[in-house]
Amino acid sequence: MKWQFVPGALFALCWGFPSYGEDYAALRQKMVAEVIAASGSAPPSSAVTAAMGKVERHRFVPSWLALFGYRNQPLPIGYGQTISQPIVVALMTDLLRVKGGDKILEIGTGSGYQAAVLAEIAKSVYSIEIIEPLGQQATERLQSLGYHNVQIRLGDGYYGWPEAAPFDGIIVTAAASHVPPPLLKQLKPGGRMVIPLGASFMTQYLMLVEKKPDGSVSSRQIEPVRFVPLTGGH
Ligand code: SAM
Repeated sequence: MKWQFVPGALFALCWGFPSYGEDYAALRQKMVAEVIAASGSAPPSSAVTAAMGKVERHRFVPSWLALFGYRNQPLPIGYGQTISQPIVVALMTDLLRVKGGDKILEIGTGSGYQAAVLAEIAKSVYSIEIIEPLGQQATERLQSLGYHNVQIRLGDGYYGWPEAAPFDGIIVTAAASHVPPPLLKQLKPGGRMVIPLGASFMTQYLMLVEKKPDGSVSSRQIEPVRFVPLTGGH
């Protein structure tokens, strides 16, 4: 379609054409190596890099962008939304310190890529998406790729998923003005939440929120980031 060609051509002009000779597995390993190198003195854990080395990111972007799927950059996924930059996915997943038996809640399913990375490590992933077609596409995509430990729900993620709570980790992939109290309530003592805070066109900070075993909460700024806003009627 014409409207797809124009942004496609712009992408190609801005970032150069990928080499058609390379296969996706090789591009994926190159992406992971780039993420590790760009992370400097604090590289993501081997569990995170192994997960990102497995998930076929090119299947989570529109087909006309598949060849750009392993660039370390965010890409449009339709409806004004984006799949996050791989280095940001690595950082956020790493901060959660996901373990094999964990139950994780994600707010902002988008393409389903972050959920797939989490599903490679955790026991189960619950993910909420507010834009119906994105949620439906992600559900079908994850099912067809065999991620049967991911459940997706349509709705406003601000309120979390109380029936499935408590969660070992919560990841919010859209920028909020504050930490939603329902999410904090649904975080297990000893659990971690990673959330970008700040307004759309202002500096946002990725925050790590920790609920201590005694229930007390502490938070710290990690680094400046740029995310689409957390929408909804809350
Ligand atoms: N994690 C996604 C991925 O791997 O592709 C990228 C997420 S994208 C940066 C942010 C997503 O959050 C969008 O799909 C957007 O529709 C969704 N979103 C925004 N506000 C939301 C809300 N209140 N509840 C659930 N999802 C929301």
